[in-house]
Amino acid sequence: GELTARPDIQPGRLEIERHPKPTAPPPSKSLVFGHTFTDHMLCIPWDILNGWGAPRIQPYGPLPLEPSCTVLHYAQTVFEGMKAYRDDSGRVTLFRPDMNMKRMNNSAARIALPNFDGDALLELIKKLVQVDKHWIPQEAGHSLYIRPTLIGTQKFIGVAPPSEALLFVICSPVGPYYPAGFKPVSLYATTEYIRAAPGGTGAFKLGVNYAPGVMPQKLAAKKGYQQNLWLHGPDHLLTEVGTMNMFVVLKKSGGGLELVTPSLDGMILPGVTRDSVLAIAREHASGKKKIPGLADKLTVSERPISMKEILTASKKGALVDLFGSGTAAVISTVDRIGYLGEDVHIPLEKDGMGPVSRPIWKELVGRQVGSIDHEWSVEV
Ligand code: PMP
Repeated sequence: GELTARPDIQPGRLEIERHPKPTAPPPSKSLVFGHTFTDHMLCIPWDILNGWGAPRIQPYGPLPLEPSCTVLHYAQTVFEGMKAYRDDSGRVTLFRPDMNMKRMNNSAARIALPNFDGDALLELIKKLVQVDKHWIPQEAGHSLYIRPTLIGTQKFIGVAPPSEALLFVICSPVGPYYPAGFKPVSLYATTEYIRAAPGGTGAFKLGVNYAPGVMPQKLAAKKGYQQNLWLHGPDHLLTEVGTMNMFVVLKKSGGGLELVTPSLDGMILPGVTRDSVLAIAREHASGKKKIPGLADKLTVSERPISMKEILTASKKGALVDLFGSGTAAVISTVDRIGYLGEDVHIPLEKDGMGPVSRPIWKELVGRQVGSIDHEWSVEV
């Protein structure tokens, strides 16, 4: 249509303005997730007449924004989260970045922000990561968190597709989510609030999905739980935990284990980590690649799962593992769920992991950092 006829993102037009006073990256030990940013950012302007303009890598700093611009009033913002890793030899890799580019375009389309050539943006993200390569911590469990963001910048009080937008990418060096070793989290099965609804925006990575979760998270914390377990409908179907996808492991009556995750029904964010966990589990189940330590008899299901099923399984001793999956923490196990005034306990082992989360986490991290050779790891 009209929009695609305008110029797409053009990596060949990249201009680089180096930081006049580069800062020294802080010691890796002192990093707190999401608080430190590298010296440079990537900015690509868009407007309805000219399409995507010249990309710029420039010093990290404040954006010039009109107080009337649409993002500030109507949450016209989509974002992504991905990681770059640097190994001992200095090789830098990204993990399945094509999936982030696709999801960002899907998110943009959902709120009428402009689409773009994902390969072109990825090429520019690689350039940005190269410029700030020395910011990627090399220690185990460390990485560079990359945050591509697209906002509506038109000076206009009105709910409509913006005629101007800005795509920018910032980077943050991060340490392991659990610096003191793996720590299971507790969940408050939330019945007062919802994260997503059928026909809504839960399946997209939009800013608008996150602010409403902060107050319920505070409520969960007040009740003594770390995160919300988001439920759906009168059957209290499980959907996501905090800002992660979720997996449940059930012991089957005929022997073997079932790994269950809610299906992508339009309310669940299609996580890159979720897809990777499923792929690894299915490779194991089919015999394509056996994962060390994982039960031989494993069924992998994308299906609805309710709190009633969780309670029944727990009473029978069939609830053996439960975890969230996401880019930031990779895998986060759960040891306790508060539901309607009672606690359900998940009998994890001493290291805070379960029979499926442990082997899958090992395999996944191996594929992410490159200690296990895999096509998911893409060199920068
Ligand atoms: N669900 C929500 C709501 C999220 O914000 C995230 C983090 N992006 C995820 C799930 C996990 O997605 P991914 O594995 O792609 O990080």
